[in-house]
Amino acid sequence: MDNCLMVDKLYKAYGSLTVLDNWNLTISKGQRLVFLGPSGSGKTTFLRIISRLEEPSSGVINSFDQKIGFVFQEPRLIPWRSVKDNLLFVNQHGDYQDILGRLRLTGFEDYLPSQLSGGMRQRVNLARALITRPDLLILDEAFSSLDLRVKASIMEDINQLWQENRFTIIAVTHDLKEALCLADRIIILSGRPSKIIKEIKVDLGRDRSFSSPDLLQLESELIDIMCSTQPEV
Ligand code: ADP
Ligand code: MG
Repeated sequence: MDNCLMVDKLYKAYGSLTVLDNWNLTISKGQRLVFLGPSGSGKTTFLRIISRLEEPSSGVINSFDQKIGFVFQEPRLIPWRSVKDNLLFVNQHGDYQDILGRLRLTGFEDYLPSQLSGGMRQRVNLARALITRPDLLILDEAFSSLDLRVKASIMEDINQLWQENRFTIIAVTHDLKEALCLADRIIILSGRPSKIIKEIKVDLGRDRSFSSPDLLQLESELIDIMCSTQPEV
């Protein structure tokens, strides 16, 4: 399988504060990788490094010239532009009707961000990342503020789009259900200076609904692992 990303002996420090401590990782094209790690462990820093928004202190990142769609935790829509114009702003030739339809936003093209619910705004953020037809979709705690039902419905839509397009996904979340719903691989991080301390393969089929028995079984195993690898400090 072709690689999407190779990370070799990656370190990142801000002055005397070491954030990322010797990360080594290879991600294949089309894989879905989810990071679970405590706040401040450098997850956003890592995502910014692989998006070339930030330089590593040392180490090598090979990210094989690809288009990246980035969804941030807080909506970053342009407030005075409509939903449609927010999308066309990032890709003026993009098929906004198609992507809005797939994300259940048909009929809201002319709404301003302030006229949408939080869940709808995050759907627009996702649509804005996907309208660039990315090879790599990065989700940085993108759905953390949403309620369970909205989250489940967005996960379903992302999984459907992934089935069709097989872009690579790198996501960060604190939500174990969200992680299990999205991931082929889950990477568990230590606190800062953060290291990769464990990787879990997620061999679930296409049924990734939050209440599927296989997902619930894995969730309870994951809780055990998290509790044994991340003692409270
Ligand atoms: P996470 O996303 O895991 O919560 P971050 O990557 O946002 O963590 O931050 C990790 C650490 O790096 C934090 O202690 C934060 O203060 C520090 N940090 C992040 N960006 C900068 C910066 N530009 N300058 C200095 N310190 C930073
Ligand atoms: Mg973060």
